[in-house]
Amino acid sequence: MPGKNLSREEAQKRAGLIEVESYRVHLDLASAPDPASATFRSTTTLTFRAATPGADSFADLLAPGMRSVTLNGRTLDPAEVFDGTRVALPDLAAHNVLVVDADCAYSRTGEGLHRFTDPVDGETYLYTHFEPADARRVFANFEQPDLKAPFSFTVTAPAAWDVYANAVHESVQEQGAARVWRFAPTRPISTYLTAVVAGPYHVVRDHYRRELPDGTTLEIPLAATCRRSLAEHFDADEILTVTKQGLDFFHQEFDYPYPFGKYDQCFVPEYNIGAMENPGCVTFREEFVFRSKVTEAAYEGRANVILHEMAHMWFGDLVTMKWWDDLWLKESFADFMGSFGLIGAGTRYRAAWITFANRRKAWAYQQDQYPTTHPITADIRDLEDAKLNFDGITYAKGASVLKQLVAYVGRDAFFEGARRYFQRHAYGNTVLGDLLGALEETSGRDLKSWSASWLETSGVNSLTPQVTCDAEGRITELAVLQDGDTLRPHRVAIGLYDLDGTGALVRTGRVEADVAGARTVVEVPAGRPRPALVLVNDEDLTYCKVRFDEVSLATLRSGLGAMTDPLARALAWSAAWNLTRDALMPARDYLDLVLRFAGQESDIGVLQSLHQQARAALDYYADPAWRAEGGRLLAECALRELRAAEPGSDHQLAWARFLATVAEGAEHLQLLTGLLDGTARIDGLAVDQELRWEFWLALAAAGSATAGEIEGELRRDNTASGKQRAVKCLAALPTPGAKAAAWAAVVDSDELPNALVEAQIAGFAQPGQRELTAGYTDIYFALLEQVWAQRSIEIAMRIVGGFFPRLQTERSTLDATDAWLDAHPHAAPALRRLVLECRDNLARALRAQDRDRG
Ligand SMILES: [Zn+2]
Repeated sequence: MPGKNLSREEAQKRAGLIEVESYRVHLDLASAPDPASATFRSTTTLTFRAATPGADSFADLLAPGMRSVTLNGRTLDPAEVFDGTRVALPDLAAHNVLVVDADCAYSRTGEGLHRFTDPVDGETYLYTHFEPADARRVFANFEQPDLKAPFSFTVTAPAAWDVYANAVHESVQEQGAARVWRFAPTRPISTYLTAVVAGPYHVVRDHYRRELPDGTTLEIPLAATCRRSLAEHFDADEILTVTKQGLDFFHQEFDYPYPFGKYDQCFVPEYNIGAMENPGCVTFREEFVFRSKVTEAAYEGRANVILHEMAHMWFGDLVTMKWWDDLWLKESFADFMGSFGLIGAGTRYRAAWITFANRRKAWAYQQDQYPTTHPITADIRDLEDAKLNFDGITYAKGASVLKQLVAYVGRDAFFEGARRYFQRHAYGNTVLGDLLGALEETSGRDLKSWSASWLETSGVNSLTPQVTCDAEGRITELAVLQDGDTLRPHRVAIGLYDLDGTGALVRTGRVEADVAGARTVVEVPAGRPRPALVLVNDEDLTYCKVRFDEVSLATLRSGLGAMTDPLARALAWSAAWNLTRDALMPARDYLDLVLRFAGQESDIGVLQSLHQQARAALDYYADPAWRAEGGRLLAECALRELRAAEPGSDHQLAWARFLATVAEGAEHLQLLTGLLDGTARIDGLAVDQELRWEFWLALAAAGSATAGEIEGELRRDNTASGKQRAVKCLAALPTPGAKAAAWAAVVDSDELPNALVEAQIAGFAQPGQRELTAGYTDIYFALLEQVWAQRSIEIAMRIVGGFFPRLQTERSTLDATDAWLDAHPHAAPALRRLVLECRDNLARALRAQDRDRG
């Protein structure tokens, strides 16, 4: 479909011609509960100006059916002007009224208007998700961020339903078996930010009040919603507490009253991403409504997302990027504000920067070392490019760089710059220079070279300490070596660590320095003895890979667990992981650190990422000949730590989950079976529903559970989440039939909703079943182009990334990948990007395995 992938040039041309005055959108969703009803009626009245009367343009609409198109009172022939993706608009007048009456499709992929039926009670739930360009699946529009307008929604829905949209509703009227909800016009916003949520949602209401500096009072009605069958698990109090803390904080820092009236937060089923910042109507994945015990890291993660989306009300919604090149303008900010806000707003989540250093930055480092990496300010040619750019660069690297910018210009100048930016560009669109200009004014600093180094180039630097000593072991010179394609200025704190009398590894010195170029000599106090360990990015001030000199590395190996500062320890873990990924530390050495020191890790978020990384080190980076031995050691460690953990603690839960991911031997599998049927117990460990599914997955993958037993568990937990878990378990069974069924369900049919596509893919690839799935490598490459052409981009991305034969860590898989890339130079760039990233992961794994082999 040529018209589906809007290009930047087309968008620029259209923005030069058109100025939108308003949208009126009527959606008739009354038939939504009937599964036989595949479409809904969508009527849009669009008024706009054209700078050049007589010119042609087009509106966007992805719809299976068109009833009528009327432009300035003229009826246009749908067969002539509508091709399924665009509505041609010939011979525009200076002032235009376009009416498009279409039949749009309910979505099962999470793109557009998603429809979900709850297996618990049969109720139907709807919600929209549009970013970057799926509003056109629901109503005719100009789908680009810089054509903002006020939107007035009218929604006809079953009488028992509630409907939420960006603005408050002005009236609700009975109409037969339905009700008609009329919503107030929004402030001018972009199409991708509009939202409708409809269904018999459970709602908790509250309100927020604040005295403003001008003496007026700001009142913000608050609502939090979830499906009825999740209501018993909905901890709305905690969600609303963080919400109010965030509103206090952002009002204080941004000094611009929340512009969108009310603030609804809707937790919705089968959501593709974490959350979306629709003004006044934020949508979240409902996995944030916790059905079973989760660790404090999960609560922290949710609170971070709540603040991230709230920051977008200003950065992104009030002031919006002109085109997707500057997506970072909103996402880097929101990502930074998620962590900054957790601390600044006084929430209970004090470990936010540890999580950021350890988890969030890992995502950035990974993405930034792909051959497909890009500058934070990206070159986004079209919508397919845009779709792939919600990545570790735009979010985590951008946030890391902003964290550093705050340190560079100072917190006060940073926020004063933000305040000016909001005032100047409210309800408008911006590019990089607009924000930098405001920050230069308030900081008095020239940010052009900073921007050139950090925003306009790609790649990550490594920083390595170089310590020179005299014969008595006193430091004569401390230097920092910098590697990387582009050398950058780094403001760093260098921590000098030594063992104290109790065996703890503590900081005994700290030097702050500006590192620039390939080698920077740093001043240290004269005569200082050589420290046991030098940490070059202590306090995590800059964005870099931390390396060690030999003495420091030896100290790390013997005493990582003795580091008492949790942030320094998180940085040390992160450095060890990067060394492993870069084939500089054998995977078994990394796993040895985990085996010896993970049990002492106090930060639950760090511990959980260690568990994930240990599993990945074993699956991808360890010598295959040693894998069985490594797996046995990890399983023994997991059981030992599980038994040693404090009863009822988060650590106990984390180790129980880890045991499920590494359990292979009979002893461990029998324990899981016993915990499931109640014949075994571990003091304080509640084997609740989510943990039960973790155990079932381990048993299924090992061939120690039958399809009948999994179906029995589904009868016990006949919920949406239970269904996803059961599908995953069935796909994980170690039989050719189970693999073929999972593959066919995803690839040969378009029937499955997004959540079950994800479950099938996740179950299909099990590390213990490499031989069983080896035959799918050729099939995978043969169907790539077809999948990309035929499936929605969201589903296609999951299939391409999820079914890549990543567990087939053999030279032949790399060759097959290269053969496909060589044979398909003209495949869609976004598809090639995904395959190139998978290839890079594989090549990295092969290098690491060589290293581990010794
Ligand atoms: Zn965001």
